[in-house]
Amino acid sequence: MEDLSDFIVCLPWSKAREVLNSDDPFHLHETKADARSIKRRDCDTYFIVYDDYSGSVERTNWTILHEIGHILLGHLDDFGVTSLDRGGLTPKAYGVLEVETNWFVAEFLMPTPVIQSLGRLSADKIALIFGVSDEASYKKYERVYEKPYVPTKYDEKLVRNFYRFITKGVFDTIYHRIHSFFGIFWTHRADNVCCRCNACKSYIRDPRAKYCFHCGSLIKSEPYVFPMGNNISNDDIVITHPFIPHRATWEDKNGDRSRVGFCPNCLNQELEEDADYCSICGTSVHNECTVEHIDLPLDSSFCPSCGAPASIGNVYSGMENRLHAIESWTCPQFEDYLEYEHWQYMKMKIATSAAFYGSAVIPALFYTNAFLDDDDNLIIITDTQSAADEIIKNRDKLMRIIERYGSIEPSIVSVKLIETT
Ligand SMILES: [Zn+2]
Ligand SMILES: [Zn+2]
Ligand SMILES: [Zn+2]
Ligand SMILES: [Zn+2]
Repeated sequence: MEDLSDFIVCLPWSKAREVLNSDDPFHLHETKADARSIKRRDCDTYFIVYDDYSGSVERTNWTILHEIGHILLGHLDDFGVTSLDRGGLTPKAYGVLEVETNWFVAEFLMPTPVIQSLGRLSADKIALIFGVSDEASYKKYERVYEKPYVPTKYDEKLVRNFYRFITKGVFDTIYHRIHSFFGIFWTHRADNVCCRCNACKSYIRDPRAKYCFHCGSLIKSEPYVFPMGNNISNDDIVITHPFIPHRATWEDKNGDRSRVGFCPNCLNQELEEDADYCSICGTSVHNECTVEHIDLPLDSSFCPSCGAPASIGNVYSGMENRLHAIESWTCPQFEDYLEYEHWQYMKMKIATSAAFYGSAVIPALFYTNAFLDDDDNLIIITDTQSAADEIIKNRDKLMRIIERYGSIEPSIVSVKLIETT
């Protein structure tokens, strides 16, 4: 694929004045335009000049992508013009091109399948996650949640390619965007989106939580310190905890109470209908507040409303450490092992695939990571012999899913046992 920079030159107005040796490049200021693209026929190159004094980063990003949209969608070529101006086209044609281009930008910056895989988001959250203006995020919100959506054949790939961001990067992005708005703390947004525990620096998804779900500390009513300038200091770190794929671990029991689909400690999945504990290791199969007995998410070690310990709480930190050890493991002998970037997505595909429903390979894959060697063979690492055996037993079936969704065709899939404790 061609690189955009091979045929598009993008310049801020102030720089274009020198480069193009013009007082007002492309008459941007004279016509009060945010940006304009021009096709230079002599070198088959498009030039974009955008106003770099016109406002926020969000708006500038949008403006530049809007111009790129016109070029990639072929608007200049289709109409045989060197630049798109209201003057050269009928108002109706111009309007159609504008709508099409803004649609492109909205989809580029905020891909619908990515938003959908994040569950129900508020317009504020959309703005913070994708770095767009209030207006753009609100329009997108309406389009995603209030209008029918026909999936495209690219949706699955988009979700796969953004899976790491969806499962790991989102909270970090929200928190840092709150602080990076010209270095000014984005109070009105943060107030209804999230906060941070000052004791353990965990990102708190529920801004109404009174106690930290991770360490149980009282969350102060003024959790943020104003950062000055654009620098995010060490004080502004936010810690996010591993995302536990719900379908792999939770299932609805009569729709009223949730419980783990398998024991997160010993991976036993033969959990009795009415049992409260794993019959092998004694881990609680529900996560609830030990005082109020209300259901809590699996990653809560403490109750956010009263601060009491959660029934499964002590297990979660063990899970987190074990996951961390697996995911940060690098092979000391074979430095050319490349971490397989879509493995977490593959695990989700396998856990939710009908072909694997109820299979013991789903818990077996819970504590795993995967690498590719020089010959594109897949090496799955895990920390228990029983999990390794289960993966080997299902190797052919796993390979079919990996080939179908993973963009690789490994000829060998092997399992390597590592130590995490
Ligand atoms: Zn336009
Ligand atoms: Zn905390
Ligand atoms: Zn157990
Ligand atoms: Zn409680």
